[in-house]
Amino acid sequence: MKIGFVGLGNMGAPMAMNLAKTGHSVVGFDLATPCPEGVTAATSAADAANEAEVVITMLPNGTILRAVAQELIPAMASGAVLLDCSTVDVESARAVASQAEEAGLLAADAPVSGGIGAAAAGTLTFMAGGSEAAFTKVEPLFDVMGQKAVHCGPSGNGQAAKICNNMILGVTMIGTCEAFALADKLGLDRQKMFDVVSTSSGYSWTMNAYCPAPGVGPTSPADNDYQPGFAADLMLKDLRLSQQAAKGVDADTPMGQAATALYASFVEEEDGAGKDFSAMLPRFVSRRRT
Ligand code: NAD
Repeated sequence: MKIGFVGLGNMGAPMAMNLAKTGHSVVGFDLATPCPEGVTAATSAADAANEAEVVITMLPNGTILRAVAQELIPAMASGAVLLDCSTVDVESARAVASQAEEAGLLAADAPVSGGIGAAAAGTLTFMAGGSEAAFTKVEPLFDVMGQKAVHCGPSGNGQAAKICNNMILGVTMIGTCEAFALADKLGLDRQKMFDVVSTSSGYSWTMNAYCPAPGVGPTSPADNDYQPGFAADLMLKDLRLSQQAAKGVDADTPMGQAATALYASFVEEEDGAGKDFSAMLPRFVSRRRT
């Protein structure tokens, strides 16, 4: 397939490389980063879109996506697919998709779960929103860049699935960390706590697969001095998107709201920026009850 790829950062570059490696013709553009191996450099976003059957975007946020889409849409051939894999607000995803469809294109939003390692290994999970026709056309590309793709419904539903998942993840990580900090103060050994909780009703992905306590459970960023993994900054971004969406549809999400406030303090007022999101554990340990 002829593919345009705009946004070749930490995630976009390895995704574009994987597509090129499997024989797709990939033309890439990024404002700041050079094209990775196997990807032909375009001079602009519109240049990357020219003659492409699918244009993939992997950009920082919804404002940038909306701006880039204004360049891409007029340059794309009728019937081509605009596939946004960035994590953006639901409203921007739906607005860009409807503009693309009005211009005779197909559109899908397909944010990913999995970080830089999964992007490089081609093991991302895609949660997609958009028409059946758009999903069917890009499904073979999901198979190259990822291990699983779920079609979640119409445009914006991929972003909805992503922020709901990550709201659960943020809330659960905080719950797991505060429980470890409480266990410490009660004199309960962390390994014993893991042995009980990981096989009891308090079990979760954050406890069982990504344990925030160093030396306990499978290897995780906690064992590497909380180098990310999944950075607290990105968790804050996703939590804020969840709260923006909740406000827009008048949904009551008190735990999501509390998690957003905690990660905001951690990243913006304390020392959480650049650390893994599981570094909430040492944060709780170092604090007293307020
Ligand atoms: P990044 O900042 O490394 O990459 C974004 C790229 O977009 C940069 O290289 C930047 O130069 C480029 N860019 C910005 N404006 C542009 C424009 N107008 N035209 C062309 N290029 C432009 O970010 P990333 O870590 O690759 O993340 C990309 C998206 O994936 C984000 O929405 C993020 O939330 C999401 N995501 C990231 C991770 C992760 O672990 N990094 C995991 C899941 C989802």
